Amino acid sequence: MTGNAIQPDMIPAEAGLKVASHWQAQLQRAWRDPVGLLHHLGHDPGRFGLAAVGTFPFLVTEAFAARMKAGDPDDPLLRQVLPLADEDLETPGFGPDPVGDAASRAAKGVLHKYRGRALLITTAACPIHCRYCFRREFDYASDGLSGTALAEAVDYIAATTDIEEVILSGGDPMMLGNHKLRRLTDALSSIPHYRRLRIHSRMPVTLPARVDGQLIDWMERLDRQVIVVVHANHANEFDEEVSRALSRMRAAGATILNQAVLLAGVNDTVPALARLMETGFEAGALPYYLHLLDRVTGSAHFDVERDRALALIDELRKQLPGYLVPRLVEERAGAPSKLPVI
Ligand SMILES: *Cc1c(COP(=O)(O)O)cnc(C)c1O
Ligand code: SF4
Repeated sequence: MTGNAIQPDMIPAEAGLKVASHWQAQLQRAWRDPVGLLHHLGHDPGRFGLAAVGTFPFLVTEAFAARMKAGDPDDPLLRQVLPLADEDLETPGFGPDPVGDAASRAAKGVLHKYRGRALLITTAACPIHCRYCFRREFDYASDGLSGTALAEAVDYIAATTDIEEVILSGGDPMMLGNHKLRRLTDALSSIPHYRRLRIHSRMPVTLPARVDGQLIDWMERLDRQVIVVVHANHANEFDEEVSRALSRMRAAGATILNQAVLLAGVNDTVPALARLMETGFEAGALPYYLHLLDRVTGSAHFDVERDRALALIDELRKQLPGYLVPRLVEERAGAPSKLPVI
């Protein structure tokens, strides 16, 4: 993760404008200093035990921070982004590449781990830095799709006829400008075995202004099925603006799913999970996966034990209709799919 939220290629060329578009202007105003945000929320930063800024710096959009409750030191949204000194603890079993991404690299910027699906690392940038992120230690310098790497990735997909679904990931693929997204899908469009485009993005939730007219226009014109998998871990992450962004993408033909990570102190209770699934559905997203934490260095304070995770999901199953119960999964290096936790 570069921590470099704004990249030169993101200045919108497609509009021919010299000013940044609405969402890019919002990105430039993102919070980059935890102390400033804590003051803004009415906290004494000295109470928190913050980590020194390392290679994965503090970053959160104003839109996301606006949904945090002032005066609540345990706010579930704040906890997801606040770099606590706990991150510096060395914990056995936690490491830099917990899911074996390095071993599944098929070409520059392409992870081909599972049959039928290839995942593209389109960018290193994100609009928010989630402290539990399993890619926080990912080596983006040697991966990432810029320049000739895009052509190589497309060649790999064209030559690998079992790939029916292309997943845009990152970083966050919606950090790419609309013209780059269009260029990417134009390059893929002549591949006959490519049938579905999946977009893994936290931006509709963390920066809903990103879902602008040009993005919708691009989505509407895609001649493949589109699935957008958003990422929200708590009901409070949804608001009117997020719902509107999801509605627009649904109207453009996309199927919307939500994946979440089970996180201690954020969503590890039955009521919190039930509210997340119900609120997400009201906003237009069906629950997809609930992931056990990937054991990346610095994230041990978010860990929920498997037995507790199973008990939570068992109880959730009794309280919610079947379609609102997410699939509890974990990722193991070398496994042929995400693994159900049973
Ligand atoms: C998670 C993941 C996928 C998608 O898996 P699904 O079970 O289809 O959601 C694909 N490729 C990689 C490398 C992944 O990590
Ligand atoms: S979880 Fe997603 S949005 Fe958050 S830092 Fe990781 S890749 Fe970026």
